Formats: sequence, structure tokens, C-alpha cells
Amino acid sequence: MTAESNEKAIEALFECKCCGHCCHGVATVSVTDAEQEGMARYLEMGLEAFKKKYLVNGKGATSMKIVDGHCIFFGEDGLCRVHPVKPFHCKRWPLHPSILEDENAWIAIKADCPGFLGDMTWEQAKELVRGRPDGS
Ligand code: SF4
Ligand code: SF4
Repeated sequence: MTAESNEKAIEALFECKCCGHCCHGVATVSVTDAEQEGMARYLEMGLEAFKKKYLVNGKGATSMKIVDGHCIFFGEDGLCRVHPVKPFHCKRWPLHPSILEDENAWIAIKADCPGFLGDMTWEQAKELVRGRPDGS
């Protein structure tokens, strides 16, 4: 399957409902240096000011701050304020490489996300993740 047909298969089986559940919790995803630079540019901010305002360092990774139980970029309208430049881990959610090795991660992610249009199996999900450009 080509990457393009893989994305079409994903579109047939998954549609984000923009419920915001995956933007809530006690922690957010890690953000690479390149992503930090892209987000700062998008927000028309200097990199250091951006980091100070929006990011937090911990456990060997830099991630986005949590405010009121959700990612600092989760808007009042329920949408992501940095959608075009959001981190890789957000772009790939919920068909994300973390499900490849851990079926329990897959079960938990699937249970918390209302975007699945059918009962996708772990085997199906792994195939779709591996078919994405950054899957492994
Ligand atoms: S939990 Fe699923 S449906 Fe809800 S915003 Fe996240 S990816 Fe979309
Ligand atoms: S960057 Fe956007 S998509 Fe990612 S957790 Fe924050 S609000 Fe959600």
C-alpha cells in the first residue's frame, strides 16, 4: 500500500470528532527543537519567549505546559491554537507509533477516542501506523 492509499484507508476508518480529550490530562507530548522553532514562528514570537511562556522541561523531554487540566494550546472553542504546526505526536494521534509495541496502549487509546468509525483491531491499527511516513 502506498502512503497515499494508507492515508485514505485511515480516513475511511477514523474521523477526529474534535472532542479535545487527547489534549487533556496531567502531561502533554514532547516537542522537538524543530517543532519549537516552527511553533514560535507561527505565533510570531522569539524562541526564548515562546519557550518560557508555553513549554516545560522534565524527564529528559520538553513538552507543552498544562493549564486548567489541558494543553496550554487548547482553545476555548475546543480547537488547537497551533493546529498547522502542532507536534508530530499530536498530528499522529491516535494512530501513533506508541501502539506498535504495546497492545495495552492501543486498548487505552482506542477506549478514550471517539473518532474510530468501527471496531479497529490492533493488527489493523499497527498496519496503518507502519504505513505512515514516520511509522516504524
Ligand atoms: S480524542 Fe480522538 S476524536 Fe477526540 S480530539 Fe483526540 S483524536 Fe480527535
Ligand atoms: S498542541 Fe494542540 S493538538 Fe497537541 S495537545 Fe496541545 S492543543 Fe492538543
